[in-house]
Amino acid sequence: DITASAMVYSEYGQPSQVLKWHSYRLPALTSTTVQVKFLASPINPADVNMIQGAYPIKPTYQKLSSDDDKLLAVGGNEGVAQVIAVGDQVQDLKVGDQVVMANTGYGTWRTHATGPASDFQLLPNNKKVSMIQKATITVNPCTAYRMLKDFVKLNQGDYVIQNGGNSAVGQAVIGISKAWGLKTINVVRNRPDIDKLRKELTDLGATHVVTDEDLGKHETRALIKSWVGENKPLLGLNCVGGKSATDMARYLGENGQFVTYGAMSRKPLSLPASLLIFKNISFHGFWVSKWAEVHSKEARYQMLEDVVDLMSQGKLGEPKWTQVKWDEESMKTSVDQGITGFSGGGKQVVIF
Ligand code: NDP
Repeated sequence: DITASAMVYSEYGQPSQVLKWHSYRLPALTSTTVQVKFLASPINPADVNMIQGAYPIKPTYQKLSSDDDKLLAVGGNEGVAQVIAVGDQVQDLKVGDQVVMANTGYGTWRTHATGPASDFQLLPNNKKVSMIQKATITVNPCTAYRMLKDFVKLNQGDYVIQNGGNSAVGQAVIGISKAWGLKTINVVRNRPDIDKLRKELTDLGATHVVTDEDLGKHETRALIKSWVGENKPLLGLNCVGGKSATDMARYLGENGQFVTYGAMSRKPLSLPASLLIFKNISFHGFWVSKWAEVHSKEARYQMLEDVVDLMSQGKLGEPKWTQVKWDEESMKTSVDQGITGFSGGGKQVVIF
C-alpha cells in the first residue's frame, strides 16, 4: 500500500483558507491503469485563479480513495511525474517513463496518482533536460512556442514585441525567438534595479528591453524606430493588458497580429480604432489549455519534442524558480503568493 498526500480543497476561496493537507491510501493498480509518482509541480497564476473560482476550467471533485467520504479537488495543473507501475493491458506507457498531464484540471499537488494511461502524456526522454524544466514545460514554454508559430509567419531577423517580458512565458519567448533567429523588444515594469533585470533578460537573448513607463513616450517611439526601421514588429504578445497593452499595440506594423494571453494588470484592453481601420491589426486570444484540448496527443508530442530539443541544446533554460517545501504551511503560504508575479524570486516549484 502506498500512502499518498495531496493539497486539496472542497470550496472556492483564498488558497490559504480553503487548501487542506490530505493523506490517503492510493487506489490499487488495475489492469487498465498506471501509477505515477510526482517529481515536481509548479504554482502558476492560473492555479490560484482556479482555487478562487475565477477560472473557466472548474476543478474535478472526486473521492481520492475508497476511505474518503468527501469529494475533493486536488490543486495544481502542471507537473512532471514518473510511471512506477502499469497494468497488464496498458500499452502506451511503461515503468520509468516520465509524463505530464494530458489535460488541464488534473490536480498535480500530490505525491502519487493512479489512473488510466489517457490521463497522462509521455514526455520525450532527454537526460539533459532538468526536472524543473520538465515540471514547467507544458504551460509557459508551450504557450511561447505556439504564439510565435501560429499567428504570423516570421522570418529571420523579424521583430516580436511583448510585455511581461520577464514573466516565465516572456523568458521562454526570448529563448525560443533567439533560437529561431527572431529579435525581441521586451517591455517590463520599471523598478529601482532595472539595470539588473535588463542584463538578465539580455543574457537570455533579449534584443532590447524597454520599461512600461518609457513605452508611451515620444523619445521611445524614435528609439524603437531607429532599431526596427521599416521592419516593424508583426507580432505583439500581451501578458498584461491596460495601458501597457495599448501602448504596445501602437508599435505593430500594418497587418500585425496582437495576441493576448494574460491580464496581469487586471485592467481591460482598450484599443484605438485607428489600429483596426488604418493598420488592419488583428487581435486574438491564446489559451494553451484549449490548444491541447483540440489537438491530438501526437501533435502535442511533436511540440514537446521541439521544446525539449531547444532545452537540451541550452537554448531554452529553466525559468527563474524557487523551491517550495512539500508541507501544509509552506504550500498555503506559497499558493497565496502565487498570483503576485515574478518579484517574489521566480516560479515557485514544489519538489516532492
Ligand atoms: P509569472 O509569475 O512568471 O510572471 C508574471 C508577470 O506579470 C511578471 O512579468 C510580472 O512583472 C507581471 N506582473 C505582475 N503583476 C503585474 C501588474 N499588476 N501589472 C503588470 N504586470 C504585472 O507568470 P507566468 O509567466 O506564469 O504567467 C503570466 C501570465 O500569463 C499570467 O496571467 C498567466 O495566467 C498567463 N498565462 C496564460 C497562458 C495561456 O495559455 N493563455 C499560459 C501561461 C500563462 P513584475 O516583475 O513587474 O512583477
